Amino acid sequence: MIPGDGIGPEVAQAAARAVDATGVSIAWEVAELNSAIIEKMGQVLPPHVIDSLERTRVGLKGPVTTPIAGGFPSVNVALRKRLDLYANVRPVRSLPGLKTRFSDVKIDMVIFRENTEDLYSGLEHEVVKDVVTSLKVITRTASLRIAHQAFRFASTTGRHKVTAIHKANIMKLADGLFLRCCREVAEVFPKIEYNELIVDNASMQLVMRPETFDILLLPNLYGDIVSDLAAGLVGGLGVVPGANIGEHHAVFEAVHGSAPDIAGKGLANPTALMLSAVMMLIHLGEHEAAARLVSAVESVYAEKLALTPDVGGSSTTTGFTDAVVAKLRA
Ligand code: ATP
Repeated sequence: MIPGDGIGPEVAQAAARAVDATGVSIAWEVAELNSAIIEKMGQVLPPHVIDSLERTRVGLKGPVTTPIAGGFPSVNVALRKRLDLYANVRPVRSLPGLKTRFSDVKIDMVIFRENTEDLYSGLEHEVVKDVVTSLKVITRTASLRIAHQAFRFASTTGRHKVTAIHKANIMKLADGLFLRCCREVAEVFPKIEYNELIVDNASMQLVMRPETFDILLLPNLYGDIVSDLAAGLVGGLGVVPGANIGEHHAVFEAVHGSAPDIAGKGLANPTALMLSAVMMLIHLGEHEAAARLVSAVESVYAEKLALTPDVGGSSTTTGFTDAVVAKLRA
């Protein structure tokens, strides 16, 4: 467990309480990581964090703010690269009873975002003063493995369509390679419908017809942007969970950041991290506990019990968590 900073410790404590209330036996090993620790230790991934993740191979992580000064690379990017957590998986689903601008349609999509390259390669260069280049790296290896993850997930979970999202009309080589890899993998899964959308059109279609999307397959940067857009369709960043999956490790974390504007006020919605914990329980093979936790969270929404302000309620992080725990104990 990496509580992180900002609203991290509040939502991490809430998620751990909810997981424990399912009755599943998890021995939480807490590894503190926040901007003060990073500045003090002079590195974004200190040994106590990496050693713990190397040993347990599974993490539940709150947001960690990268210190602005000091030229540190992003903690999240560093962690994903270090453990080769190449697949960022983000299910975006309507919650029962939750009123949003889109609540008249049922939204149920899963975003597969490539997590290790693209414009996140960190290769920036000032050619001469006031002229900067930033390298977008797309490789066949990384594109094939994220595409495989998306199609394998589709076929094992009974989903029917994968949409690859790109800008290959402009970035003909980079996004062209990404698309070729997606098409190659699509051929291995003939039962799964495959289509492609240019990222600008995809953004419009997501707002106009969100119910038509099933699995979205994207390179890193479009995946980042489209994830927040998709979160907005179902109630915002407070409710969308995520997983970073590699061959040997998995780190589960919400899509949201550390939300400094509401940190320490008891206003953070812990739903996103609770649902990330559900993904963790499934990863650990604890399917029954996972199903019970989803059902408890959904009941709290359906009955409009103790919702936090971001989703139209007036309760607190603790109030919402108490309601989820009460459902699990009932
Ligand atoms: P980062 O750059 O670290 O991803 P960000 O700048 O994109 O972070 P967030 O920290 O994710 O921003 O917050 C964006 C907005 O969403 C803020 O107004 C924040 O209060 C709100 N928000 C994010 N997470 C939650 C949450 N769990 N509960 C309630 N509001 C949230």
